[in-house]
Amino acid sequence: MLRIGQLKIKTGHTKEELERKVERALGVSREEIQSIEIRKRSIDARKKPEIYYVYTVDVKLTKVKKEKAILSRRKLKDVSEAKETSYEFPACREASEMKHRPVVVGSGPAGLFCAYLLAKHGYRPILIERGAPVEERKKAVEAFWETGVLDTRTNVQFGEGGAGTFSDGKLNTLVKDPAGRNREVLKIFVAHGAPEEILYENKPHIGTDILIDVVRRMRESIEDSGGECRFYTKLTGINTGDGRVKEIRIEEQGKESLIPAEVVVLALGHSARDTFAMLKETGVFLEAKSFAVGVRVEHLQKRINLSQYGTEQHPDLPAAAYKLTAKAENGRGVYTFCMCPGGYVVNASSEEGRLCVNGMSYHGRAGKNANSAVIVTVTPEDYAADGNQGPLAGVEFQRHLEERAYEAGNGKIPVQCFGDFKNGRISHSFGEVFPQMKGAYCFGNVRGIFPEEIASSIQEGIEAFEQKIHGFSRDDTVLSGVEARTSSPVRITRDETMQSVNVQGLYPCGEGAGYAGGITSAAMDGMKTAEAVAKKYQAFCE
Ligand code: FAD
Repeated sequence: MLRIGQLKIKTGHTKEELERKVERALGVSREEIQSIEIRKRSIDARKKPEIYYVYTVDVKLTKVKKEKAILSRRKLKDVSEAKETSYEFPACREASEMKHRPVVVGSGPAGLFCAYLLAKHGYRPILIERGAPVEERKKAVEAFWETGVLDTRTNVQFGEGGAGTFSDGKLNTLVKDPAGRNREVLKIFVAHGAPEEILYENKPHIGTDILIDVVRRMRESIEDSGGECRFYTKLTGINTGDGRVKEIRIEEQGKESLIPAEVVVLALGHSARDTFAMLKETGVFLEAKSFAVGVRVEHLQKRINLSQYGTEQHPDLPAAAYKLTAKAENGRGVYTFCMCPGGYVVNASSEEGRLCVNGMSYHGRAGKNANSAVIVTVTPEDYAADGNQGPLAGVEFQRHLEERAYEAGNGKIPVQCFGDFKNGRISHSFGEVFPQMKGAYCFGNVRGIFPEEIASSIQEGIEAFEQKIHGFSRDDTVLSGVEARTSSPVRITRDETMQSVNVQGLYPCGEGAGYAGGITSAAMDGMKTAEAVAKKYQAFCE
């Protein structure tokens, strides 16, 4: 099979035009081609408003001899042999017997993919999730956005599918992938109902509307393969002996009980603050880590399109995205994060009296506004300056900011126009940009949520981004806060066997453990964790 890269073709092209491009690149006729598979498609807007797709395609010719002849022609620099690392689940090496079924705690992407692989390979995992199954969760989240009454068991952070269920569903990751896990994650998503294009788009995304069904189907696959999914079931304690896990304590539908276990995967996500506290009490080794905090900004999507594509609405292209970085005078990095084209800002809170925001979109990304976090890195030194120390110092720092955000909006999402943010004044009216939000909002002093050093860094960042996107720092840009759940403030440190450094049998996994950031990297870490369990133990047999 041949792989052709750098096939550049104007947007809006037909399938036949792409085929002709392939024929010309290889110097073959249509009859000599058996199949063409798109492997990657990215957008080249350097000559806007003329915009091109750049493809990488795999081509199978009817005759292998011809493929070899083409490969020997040196001048075809963008043609190579198509090599694929296909993902393989490892065979068991140590062959220890597992006495109890493995327990996976948390059904975000990390836990879901870990449980999925364990189930597919005969380990019959028990997946426990503190929140509701995704169908019920959707209703609870929508009720929260309508009424403001928070369900602390099930919300944007907790429940089946994890934190990214109400999201833009961006699936790109920068994680290096020699083992082929990234493509395997995308393939598993497609097998459960995600659109096929995620396999080749340079910046794949699913969208909340589709993701909800994908998550439900993955649960059904886990159950069909012998796994068990238990909802409203919270891990509340871990009993250890001889430095190993012996059993876990759970609270299921309000009742306490014990599950004997020797393998417990902790795929808790970054918001399980009560569980982090329980782990600390139990003596599991944890450390504070850096993360980032800031605001969410909203612009008219048509302005972002104009800047990126040279036109307010391109007939063939999706709503445009951006990714920007800057350095503030105080040396802090400021960057955009989790950008949602045509999306909504959501109230993503999970604790009473505290408020945080995030972004989501539907598959069509057809909303009026583009939104993105603009965030600044904070380190354990920042939490110490705020009076917080120890492994959970970052959690306390987050809580403090979220309390200030809650107060700034009286329980609603506080919003402030950038012109007023610069002066710390409460806004009284909007300009051209009106908030597109899930959850009630009101004017409040967003700047006042932050220590001044962070607020001024955010301001400098937004002003610097004007150089890249005209209009980014307009006075009517809408800011809301607080973005405090960008990644985990804690690391549950693990060793090379993927187990906790001081409790054998505990497998910290995914974003909450500090080993992933984003849907795909969390899912890949879940796979890696399932592999680590499989290398050590035989498949469970009763
Ligand atoms: P989580 O998804 O947080 O899952 C952890 C699960 O564990 C939760 O379901 C929780 O209820 C459960 N849990 C916690 N404690 C316990 C306990 N004690 N007992 C039982 N269960 C427990 N990332 C992207 O890549 N693209 C995006 O577009 C994107 N958009 C986002 C939008 C929003 C609104 C949010 C909140 C996040 C978004 N993210 C996005 C980030 C992404 O969702 C996370 O990086 C990812 O979900 C982390 O996966 P995880 O499995 O490690 O943890």
